Amino acid sequence: MATVASSLANDVAVKATKLLINNRWVDSHSGRTFATINPATGEEICQVAEADEPDVDLAVKAARQAFHSKSAWRRMSAAERGRLLNKLADLIEKNAEELARLESLDNGKPVAVARAADLPLTIACYRYYAGWADKIQGRTIPIAGDYFCYTRLEPVGVVGQIIPWNFPLLMQAWKLGPALAAGNTVVLKPAEQTPLTALRVGELLLEAGFPEGVVNILPGFGPTAGAAIAKHMDVDKVAFTGSTEVGHLIMENAARTNLKRVTLELGGKSPNIVFNDADLDQAIEGAHFALFFNQGQCCCAGSRLFVESKVYDEFVDKSVARAKRRTVGDPFDASTEQGPQVDQAQFDKVMSYIDAGKQEGAKLLCGGGRVGDRGYFVAPTVFADVSDGMKIAQEEIFGPVMSIIKFRDLDEVVERANTTMYGLAAAVWTRDIGKAHAVANTVRAGTVWVNCYDVFDAAAPFGGFKQSGIGRELGEYGLQQYTEVKTVTVKM
Ligand code: NAP
Ligand code: MG
Repeated sequence: MATVASSLANDVAVKATKLLINNRWVDSHSGRTFATINPATGEEICQVAEADEPDVDLAVKAARQAFHSKSAWRRMSAAERGRLLNKLADLIEKNAEELARLESLDNGKPVAVARAADLPLTIACYRYYAGWADKIQGRTIPIAGDYFCYTRLEPVGVVGQIIPWNFPLLMQAWKLGPALAAGNTVVLKPAEQTPLTALRVGELLLEAGFPEGVVNILPGFGPTAGAAIAKHMDVDKVAFTGSTEVGHLIMENAARTNLKRVTLELGGKSPNIVFNDADLDQAIEGAHFALFFNQGQCCCAGSRLFVESKVYDEFVDKSVARAKRRTVGDPFDASTEQGPQVDQAQFDKVMSYIDAGKQEGAKLLCGGGRVGDRGYFVAPTVFADVSDGMKIAQEEIFGPVMSIIKFRDLDEVVERANTTMYGLAAAVWTRDIGKAHAVANTVRAGTVWVNCYDVFDAAAPFGGFKQSGIGRELGEYGLQQYTEVKTVTVKM
């Protein structure tokens, strides 16, 4: 066990750094490893085994074996699968403080946020799907003729899961929870930036008693290990969360190989609409949270902030004042609201969007630069007078950069809100229930929040319209994506 000592991280233990294949911790076939970095310092935390195609192949074989007849997993009752998922949730809860600290170290998010949001949501997700395990039922169907017709909901099979770095533990739970409840087996690749908590959960999966080969965890890179999963002829489904660009590649690979099922949770450029009649202070705080939460690294960030003309100036002034008060710094300091971006590449990308905003004539009212002289900290940044065609209003920035856009009336704002290739989320702030529903019913997005933002629950489906994705995660809809329907017809 390595212990990382740094002034910021105050001794976080790193326990698991290898590949988990068939319930054993192994080095990669190539023997290669890669560094995972502490984004608050830019320093290496440790080396992690780097999976590639041969490792994916071994893991898929283990998962296939676990899926097929006579394995412990196939013989297990649905209720027992639920019990194992509950046991995993209990173990995560028992180790919540350690996991929150490890998440913060590897990702850069404030440990207070990991404690208050990531851990409870992760645990709730496993418990929610544990409850489903023995309630996945088919139907009897009154077809014509003398037949008995019924459906069975069977697991899809071996499922490849590729997850991003913004909510490592939670994205793992959104993937493993429904897949395991439905009886699938899994090969999961965590993001290269944040492998450590996924691997620690691997240890807890073993402790909970999941049988061999049911969950295999392979840290590694997208174009190698990730692509090998998407291309594999013996993977029945791939579930991916990340950029729309890579979503296209995943689908292409599935199409070129075995038509594996594909579910995608991709990017967004979500409209957040504030009407004149909103509770302004609530809307300002809500819009601040909607954009800046998690260093702005949220697929559903409220990154196109439309504000109605009469309250526009006051809204801008108060939003700038709020952004200036946002505390940026040591993720292990309890008062920190914002940590560093996840890595140098994301830092550079955010900076390039800030440059683009300035060049295209948006009004930079605060932030715009780096904070400190090490790590990847970006000052909370607010642009006003942003217009729809600007790059910062079109593309996913994935950073703490707010773009405020003026609008004049309801019809106009809905049309503009929908003029994007994305359709992940939207929000509306108003005291007029008619306006709230008018927006909720016409905006093309998978989730609409009214007078709130980023309200997540394991029971409520989440996912995108248009190029924000295919399929849904969470809730019963999320479970359905991990089952195949089989129709059985019996001559009576
Ligand atoms: P990304 O490339 O889409 O990464 C997401 C996951 O896909 C990672 O595990 C990644 O592996 C893997 N991957 C990359 N290329 C792949 C390929 N060819 N085949 C299979 N898997 C592949 O995202 P990113 O580069 O980390 O971030 C870029 C942008 O994506 C962000 O700025 C943001 O706009 C968006 N993003 C969205 C979400 C979301 O929640 N929807 C999350 C993260 C990022 P590696 O470990 O090698 O990266
Ligand atoms: Mg890291």
